[in-house]
Amino acid sequence: MLKIFNTLTKKKEKVQFSYSKIINIYVCGVTVYDLCHIGHARTFLVFDIIKRYLEYLGYKTCYVRNITDIDDKIIYTANRNNESIDVLVKRMIKHMHKDFLCLNLQDPDYEPKVTRCMQDIISFIEILLKKNFAYIADNKDILFSIKQYNSYGILSRRKKLCCLHDTVSYDDSIYNESNDFVLWKHSINKSDPHWISPWGPGRPGWHIECSAIINKFFKNGVNIHGGGIDLLFPHHENELAQLKSIKSSFSIKFWIHVGMVIINNHKMSKSLSNTVFIRDLLHKYDPEVIRFYILSTHYRHPLVFREKNLNASQNILKKIYVSLLYHNIQCTHTNDQKKLRNTFKEKFFSAMNDDFNTPKACLILQKLSQYINKIKKSRDILLYNSLSKDLIFFGNVLGLLNHDPKNFLRSFTNKMSRSQINIVEKLVRMRDSYRNNKKWNLADMIRKKLLKLGVTIKDGNERSTYKFIYKN
Ligand SMILES: [Zn+2]
Repeated sequence: MLKIFNTLTKKKEKVQFSYSKIINIYVCGVTVYDLCHIGHARTFLVFDIIKRYLEYLGYKTCYVRNITDIDDKIIYTANRNNESIDVLVKRMIKHMHKDFLCLNLQDPDYEPKVTRCMQDIISFIEILLKKNFAYIADNKDILFSIKQYNSYGILSRRKKLCCLHDTVSYDDSIYNESNDFVLWKHSINKSDPHWISPWGPGRPGWHIECSAIINKFFKNGVNIHGGGIDLLFPHHENELAQLKSIKSSFSIKFWIHVGMVIINNHKMSKSLSNTVFIRDLLHKYDPEVIRFYILSTHYRHPLVFREKNLNASQNILKKIYVSLLYHNIQCTHTNDQKKLRNTFKEKFFSAMNDDFNTPKACLILQKLSQYINKIKKSRDILLYNSLSKDLIFFGNVLGLLNHDPKNFLRSFTNKMSRSQINIVEKLVRMRDSYRNNKKWNLADMIRKKLLKLGVTIKDGNERSTYKFIYKN
């Protein structure tokens, strides 16, 4: 049975959703003012796995991920670039979709933009005002009154921001001593982007966006709400306070938070210029390599980003694909060996059922692939095919092993960099010249060197041809 760690209770809890009902999932999406980075990749990849896995278990899901297309950072960046907010936002959404598509992230069922939900946000604030959970401040901003909501802090076990560095947006900035936060920011200048409301022109605060969107799509509550751990306080605490204030029975069953990405001992941040963009990683690595690398750390732990670990993941994935090289998809005859196959199956799914323990699940893929290599040597073709099918199936649950093994491995020989291929070619031609001059010892020495590089030689009359071999 699936167990998920719930931030609200700080415990792993059994999932007891009803199969006849749709599982509602809401994840806080991207603020589109820049390209998406590895932190985004990690968060959304984790929820991609969660959604895939729930569907594998037979649940139907409805996944909503918003797009924040208006906020301080967007306004600042558009002004700095001397372009309109609309142009900036459209470009960034296009890049985001391209990156996510490359990473093989399944699309959410709905991807509402904040600016398209303005009426829902305004109606939500109206209810909060009516119920006295909100008030109009002297400067005409509308604030949420924390003292009116007794359970504030129930999710994060926090009530106050520690310092200004704790803030992630204007909306979190300490407004007054009671830490009340902005629901509606009154427009001072006519040139500011604004929407008409009963309280004059303005724009919404960040926290109210998500609550209003959740309420719009999931009137009866949410089964899973997630995001990065940096959103836990104050963003998610505020979201919960708002939702509970308009409907005390509103339920969010599981809160799931994904750990941070750490680079050079620091949290990734623009001010430290240590941001790793998805696009740059995709230039260097196959998307499955990035996926395998991210899944090799448990989602609740911090991911310490090191390129050498990414390369190590690449090597592991290559070995897994090598074990599948001679797998015959068409072959319908399989060697049952139920006991053996069930052992791997049980291990894989018990790892996934234990709060999506993907590092363990990835290790099972490796172990199974090593076992397949042994079977390959014993030439038990039926068992080899059965186990290969299982390996591909497990991989697919994690969004992996979707490539044809030959094509996947060939892409590395092509990618084996032009300079490496140049070296190989030089050695082959040098060996040709030794052979033509009957310097057999030297020619043989180069043949051995090429073999070490994973290259085999076929001798012709004057010139030899070569090919790359896949090593286990
Ligand atoms: Zn949110």
